[in-house]
Amino acid sequence: MTKKYRLKTSCPQCGCSAVSHLSKDEIQKRYGDLPNVEMECSECIMKYEIPMEEACPEWDKDCKLKEE
Ligand SMILES: [Zn+2]
Repeated sequence: MTKKYRLKTSCPQCGCSAVSHLSKDEIQKRYGDLPNVEMECSECIMKYEIPMEEACPEWDKDCKLKEE
């Protein structure tokens, strides 16, 4: 079974938070090795970035452990 990581972000403008559950492959496809997660707020359509270690400390830790 594929492990899912929980990414939690919140919009700096309206404070609306979003949670996504993504597998390792989905995270790598979407964000690559970027240290920041790029999000678009579903409420105010503002684009913002937050550090991966804040959005998903678990992924940040795992991806540093397994360097490919
Ligand atoms: Zn917003």
